[in-house]
This record gives sequence, C-alpha cells and structure tokens, in this order.
Amino acid sequence: MLHKNKRPVLLLSASLIAASFTAPLHAAVVASIKPVGFIAAAIADGVTPVEILLPDGASAHDYALRPSDVKRLRQADLVVWVGPEMEAFLPKTIGQLPDDKSLALAALPQVKPLLMKGTEEEEHGHEHEHEHGHADHDEAEHHHHHGEYNMHLWMSPEIARQSAVAIHAKLLELMPQSRDKLDANLQHFEAELASADTQIKSQLAPVKGKGYFVFHDAYSYFEKHYGLTQSGHFTVNPEIQPGAQRLHHIRTELVEQKAVCVFAEPQFRPAVVEAVARGTKVRSGTLDPLGMGITPDRDSYVTFLAQLSSQFASCLKEPKGT
Ligand SMILES: [Zn+2]
Repeated sequence: MLHKNKRPVLLLSASLIAASFTAPLHAAVVASIKPVGFIAAAIADGVTPVEILLPDGASAHDYALRPSDVKRLRQADLVVWVGPEMEAFLPKTIGQLPDDKSLALAALPQVKPLLMKGTEEEEHGHEHEHEHGHADHDEAEHHHHHGEYNMHLWMSPEIARQSAVAIHAKLLELMPQSRDKLDANLQHFEAELASADTQIKSQLAPVKGKGYFVFHDAYSYFEKHYGLTQSGHFTVNPEIQPGAQRLHHIRTELVEQKAVCVFAEPQFRPAVVEAVARGTKVRSGTLDPLGMGITPDRDSYVTFLAQLSSQFASCLKEPKGT
C-alpha cells in the first residue's frame, strides 16, 4: 500500500526537478556584491539585466554560496567580482567558468597600481590581540580579505571609474550590437561620477581633520580620496571581535575627546561599539559600506557615494548651537 502511494509522488518530484534544470534562467550579468552591481548596472543599463549575488544584509566576509547561487553564476554571461581576497566564497565556482566569463576588478592592470596596502601586519606586530592561534592563521588568511591589500575597492571613485571602463569593454565584446548604448552609458557614468565627486568634496571639506572610529577598516579608499582622517577601527575583519587592549585604546581616545564620532554598520551592530562610547560626548553614526537600501540602476553608484558622504558628514559636523 505504502509503496503504491509513494510512487507517483516520486515520479512527480523527479519531473519537477528535471523541469527546474531545463528552465532558462536569464542572468546576463551577475555581480558579487551590491556596490559592484551598482557599477555594472550603470554600464549595462538598457542593454542587459544585472543581478546581485549577495542578499541585502549579508556580509561578503562570511557568505557561503547556496546551490541556487552556483546555478546563477554558471548561467551568467558575465560575473563581476572584486577578487579572491574579498569574496572568498567565489574562486571555486568562478574557476569552473570559461575565463572570458568573469571579471575580477582587483586583477585589472589599470586597477593594480591604485591598490592600497591593508593594515593587518601592523595590528599583528604591535597589539598581539589576534585571537587565532598560529595554526589557524593560514586558514584565516584564506577566508578573509585582509591580505596584502585593502580590497574594499568600490570605495574608490577612481577604481570605480576604471572598473566601469573594464565592464564596458567586456560587455562590448559580448554584445557588440549594443555599442551605442554601452558607449552612452559609460559617458553618462563618468559625467555623473565627476559631478558627484565635486559635490562630495565640498560636503566633506568642513569635517576634514575630525577624528572618528569606524567599525571595520572598509573605508580607506574613500577616506584617502576625500581627505578624511580615521582615528582607527575596531577590527580589520568584522568576524573577529576586537581585543580588550584595542577597546581600551579606543575608549581612552574617546574620553580624551580625540574623536567626535564612532560608526557602526547596518551589517554589523556589535554591542562593543555602543559600550565603548557610553558616558562620553562622542556621537554615534552608521556607515553602510554596501548600500543596502539602494536599488541598482544607472545612477546607483553615485547615489551610494553620496549616501556615504552624508553619513560621514552628519555625524562628524558639530551640531548647531553647541
Ligand atoms: Zn570589509
């Protein structure tokens, strides 16, 4: 009896599985993380759809691919990502794709000279607060982005522009019939970026020199470009909690009013950030390194940069009347 009942169900589910494997999935460009998708969406606008692999609220630092992600990657015309030191969950799947189907921004010859060194060495050398034992170290190196360079490349307007140029060239190879639109999109992106850059420079000029702490060291390119001076960060790797010595140091700086603001992130809201600022006059703000609420479209990268600038400015500027 049981057997007779079960059999049709099994057949049905088998045919459903077959159907889902053969159904065409339209995924032209897949970007690993949202800000990379913002740049791709500007160039691909009106030509081909752009999908973002990482769901909103997820962190590139601890993401694991789902089977459906692997499928999307395999069916994409083009995968755009930063590189193995940022998206440690990607190299295995990307390695199985044909070479011309993926674009690693960190590996572009025009981006390489713009890379900034990471800060991990310094932390290991001076503070000895890393909680991993030596045996874990190699593993940590492979799983996280703190290699030789800071890999938060989308924080740099100049690297974003170079990335847009490279995505444009790649899409032109894939879709030569869309040359006019692709060219117009790149031109539009470069013009919007230049004007946003000017606006951001003037928005941030009054807060230059104000000290602040960021939760994780994701903003170096933006800070360097706009002349902001970070007092320090709670952690290089958001998966590793800051050590007691570091927290003590930050607390001292806050009490001595060497910094006016501490920034948490929507992806990471650790209690330590709140705790360390408690009872001081320091303000707290939020920086969103991934542009969570922003929908990818032709102007979303510029919106993202402008949002970040406002997030910095609103916390760093002195409130009126004090
Ligand atoms: Zn990061």
